[in-house]
Amino acid sequence: MKDKSRDYDIIIIGAGLVGLSASLLMSRKIENILVLDNKREDSFHSLPESEDPYQGVKSIALSLSSTKIFEALGIWKDIKKDAAIIENVHVSSKGDVGSVVLSASEIGEEVLGHNVANTILYNSLYRKVKSAKIDFQYDSNLEGISCKKDHVEICFRVNNKVEKKILSADLLIVTDGLNSKSSGLLGIDSEDHSPLQEAIFTNIFLSKPTLNTAYQRFSKDGHMALLPIPVLNNDHRSEFIWVLPKNLSDEYSKLSDKEFLRVSQQFFGYRAGNFKKLDKRLRFPIYRQQATEQIRHNIVIMGNSAHSIYPIAAQGFNLSLRDAQKLSSVIINSRECGKSIGSFEVLQDYLSEQVFDQSLTAGFGDNLKSAFAKDNPLARFVRSVSLLGFDSIPSLRKAVINLGVGVRGNSKPG
Ligand SMILES: Cc1cc2nc3c(=O)[nH]c(=O)nc-3n(C[C@H](O)[C@H](O)[C@H](O)COP(=O)(O)OP(=O)(O)OC[C@H]3O[C@@H](n4cnc5c(N)ncnc54)[C@H](O)[C@@H]3O)c2cc1C
Repeated sequence: MKDKSRDYDIIIIGAGLVGLSASLLMSRKIENILVLDNKREDSFHSLPESEDPYQGVKSIALSLSSTKIFEALGIWKDIKKDAAIIENVHVSSKGDVGSVVLSASEIGEEVLGHNVANTILYNSLYRKVKSAKIDFQYDSNLEGISCKKDHVEICFRVNNKVEKKILSADLLIVTDGLNSKSSGLLGIDSEDHSPLQEAIFTNIFLSKPTLNTAYQRFSKDGHMALLPIPVLNNDHRSEFIWVLPKNLSDEYSKLSDKEFLRVSQQFFGYRAGNFKKLDKRLRFPIYRQQATEQIRHNIVIMGNSAHSIYPIAAQGFNLSLRDAQKLSSVIINSRECGKSIGSFEVLQDYLSEQVFDQSLTAGFGDNLKSAFAKDNPLARFVRSVSLLGFDSIPSLRKAVINLGVGVRGNSKPG
């Protein structure tokens, strides 16, 4: 039952992809929700969605389980119309003779996943939150979090005004990203296992159609992924991500576009056609962090604040969405049984159900780092099928397990 003395049932700090998704999932049965962010309102309205929403924008590979969650939230149709389908994954390793192609049809699905520009996904979530009965507080500078006996209070200033606001809730969900200020205020540390690596990101124009195929290419010096994005004016393009040791990323970032295309084509080969031209290059440091606590009485830490995982696994958001779905179902059930949604016992139920998924998913990502060093094609293959968030497909997981010691699929010279 809702306690009338609280301002909110749930307060969510951080309106990123995870905070927005969590608020929508909770709002299906819980009415009194506030989402708070430190960004100004106009920065939410000005997310560019130009004629070509993929230009200069990172995309996000969504697993089938994520698309099913968005379908249930009623936003998948909106996202899907601008997303690219991933039907096949081609995995190869520089210097190895074998390559593997995994197709959706092999596991009885039409697609393995979708790739969509971050802004398309974000704007769709934001529009839905704004049309739902969810309160939004922009431009909020968080100053304190106090844990009371059976609720939580947050203290913040809006728009740098002197006046402080205090709001209470039965449950506080922290989704304010990496180096979370909220976790700092709560005294929750993060273990940092970040490697000295960076991701170079751009879109590459190709000489032939992508045929809905994603590519993964390994070497001991780095890992490259090409993920299909929608055709623009008859131009075939893929999102290009290259994870490299920091020193190589520094070196390659200094290259001209022409030289960069040559070096990346040399690393990748010609299986996706000629690399014709590229968009602006962006660089992202690679973080691998893990909060030392994810739940406390009346508090849950989620998203990047809880676990930021190796990004080449394209799993971070897919995993956090599964976390948010599980949390919402656990707290909705507990409310229906008359229990407090913030009780430690309820939150422990959530975490114990998700901890296996979290360690498996983060583990896949961590293992990828060793794939750079280890020369074991099967291990690389098994890891790589998890790359695009597809490990959430039970039948694919089973297929991978069934691989045993032999590599399945079309084995061709690499
Ligand atoms: C190169 C790269 C590629 C990736 N590709 C994929 C992929 O293909 N598939 C996939 O599933 N995942 C992918 N990921 C991971 C994915 O991007 C993250 O898991 C996801 O963005 C995390 O979202 P978040 O909401 O937890 O954090 P964030 O997006 O960081 O959001 C945090 C929010 O909190 C707000 N905030 C910060 N501080 C405060 C404060 N003090 N008070 C109030 N608000 C605050 C911020 O303004 C922001 O709105 C990738 C990551 C990288 C780096």
